[in-house]
Amino acid sequence: RAKAEGRGHARLFQPEMQATAHARRALELDLREAWENGQFFLVFQPFFHVDSRRLAGFEALLRWRHPTRGIVLPSDFIACAEETGLILPLGAWVLTEACRAAAEWPADVHLAVNLSSLQFRSGHMADQLRDALRASGLPPQRLELELTESALLVEGTSVHSNLAQFRAQGIAIALDDFGTGYSSLSYLRTLPIDRIKVDRTFVARMAQDRQHRAIVHSVIQLSTALGIATTAEGIETEEQIEILRAEGCGYMQGFLLGRPMRATDARDLAQRETR
Ligand code: C2E
Ligand code: MG
Ligand code: MG
Ligand code: MG
Repeated sequence: RAKAEGRGHARLFQPEMQATAHARRALELDLREAWENGQFFLVFQPFFHVDSRRLAGFEALLRWRHPTRGIVLPSDFIACAEETGLILPLGAWVLTEACRAAAEWPADVHLAVNLSSLQFRSGHMADQLRDALRASGLPPQRLELELTESALLVEGTSVHSNLAQFRAQGIAIALDDFGTGYSSLSYLRTLPIDRIKVDRTFVARMAQDRQHRAIVHSVIQLSTALGIATTAEGIETEEQIEILRAEGCGYMQGFLLGRPMRATDARDLAQRETR
């Protein structure tokens, strides 16, 4: 109750707060039901080499087929899944399903999976990875884990030693949405990472805005100098591809090149593209 803040406040804010709490509770229940009823599925968005435009791999993206709301995107439920802990079994399922799908692709097509920092904190990541790889037969050299800056930085050294352990098995680590967090550039030297994904907010504006172009330029220069691969996210125009080619960016991903698609379509594309 907002009693201490005075009657006026209580009248103004309480109904709104109750509505929010109610919506949250409903979402929690919905999510639990979704998990029990198998309403989650994966789509796969391709990413490509900039030079040759050849297919390099697919990123697994989670979807929820809601009985009345239709397809729900991660931005509407990942945070809730993290707060309730559902992300742990859900994340393990994503890993297993994605590896199973990728095992059917030609051998040079890679798989990227998004991880929540909570999955690391659980302490079960190493076991889950081993199980998913073993069950699918996917070689660890074809798997890449995507983490955001905040996941890598907040957790400090335990995450770092975990990542180092995964890398020692041949699994690659990508820093997702780069540029949106608070990491200093000097972290790039010490973080155990193989790839930087330049956030699409920079890519979206680099053709029109010199400052955004300068940021993209600098990130590619620095990561290349450090031996880290770069992927530009959110490619929507040919002009953006030309800029990335000029800047020496290695990989690209975006709706212009390929939308997220079902596993069967991803497999067909992979077989077509690598023939
Ligand atoms: P992300 O990892 O940065 O994934 C890229 C997001 O950008 C995807 O949204 C994708 O559909 C979208 N995107 C790709 N190309 C374009 C483009 O050209 N234009 C525009 N406007 N958007 C583009 P999605 O699938 O809604 O995923 C959002 C975020 O949710 C992901 O961002 C990732 O952080 C998170 N996420 C997705 N799947 C999982 C998962 O299995 N586990 C966890 N922990 N997080 C996930
Ligand atoms: Mg990602
Ligand atoms: Mg990303
Ligand atoms: Mg992003």
